[in-house]
Amino acid sequence: MSLLVVGSVAIDTLETPRGRAPDVLGGAATYFAVAASFFGPVRLVAVVGDDFPRAELDWFARRGIDLAGVEVRPGRSLRWTGRYHEDMNVRDTLSFEANVFEHFAPELPAAYRDSPFVFLANIAPALQARVLEQVRAPRLVGADTMNLWIETTRPELDALLRQVPLLMINDEEARLLSGERNMVRAARRILAMGPESVMIKRGEYGVLYFSGESVFVVPAYPLEEVFDPTGAGDTFAGGMIGHLAESGDRSEAGLRRAIVYGSVLASYMVEDFGGRRLRTLSRDDVERRYRQFVSLTEF
Ligand code: AMP
Repeated sequence: MSLLVVGSVAIDTLETPRGRAPDVLGGAATYFAVAASFFGPVRLVAVVGDDFPRAELDWFARRGIDLAGVEVRPGRSLRWTGRYHEDMNVRDTLSFEANVFEHFAPELPAAYRDSPFVFLANIAPALQARVLEQVRAPRLVGADTMNLWIETTRPELDALLRQVPLLMINDEEARLLSGERNMVRAARRILAMGPESVMIKRGEYGVLYFSGESVFVVPAYPLEEVFDPTGAGDTFAGGMIGHLAESGDRSEAGLRRAIVYGSVLASYMVEDFGGRRLRTLSRDDVERRYRQFVSLTEF
């Protein structure tokens, strides 16, 4: 079933304790789309500049990512530079140039308006709401956000939360949004703001899922070496919602399986810079690590 993602497609420069990678493919919607494309076709709505490598767009297309919603504008693409500390849960933004992304005003191609699965990657809540106005009766809508929007556009974010059934944020954002340090209390507060369920992403500690009826906890796959955690959360979201779109299974068990698939994709993502590992990954690799996850958590 069709899956739509709206958000940033960028060119990143990354510095981690393992090395430096200039000008690699980045952006939240990129990671989401690539991860989801392991499970089925993806519709991408984004804007890039005319500096964006044609070869990357061609690679998207070969992966089954539809580019009808990707606008190429004169100018430079969004460019972000981030540096990670020795503790890779901590990072600094060294530079952020919005460039053509500054005036991003998502317009869905008519054929995208019936998308049953929708993911609103991290962009201003008013733009996320604008996307929601354009889709007809989606079966599942997920959204991400960030500290910037929680701190600067709270009324718009609050209005959006009343319309988004699944919120996917990290632990720091959950604390800021809820005013609670404890994740269980934070989740309860967030659910009272509107979403039916919330996924709290905790980096190397895995994910917590809360909904009215259930709590589910999945660890991160234990890796000896993490190269680059950029976009792990978006990759997780792409794997999870991509799998839900493929299976169509909205039962609790189906949802839990999808959460583990999301964790599998994120674990591969962090093994190299800028998601390079995903370029050589096969569906067999995904299934193998899924089975390892099952045995890892069985007792
Ligand atoms: P994450 O690790 O989930 O925070 O995602 C990092 C990605 O988000 C990088 O590839 C950046 O290009 C992109 N990014 C950074 N800042 C922003 C922003 N303000 N809006 C949208 N995307 C951003």
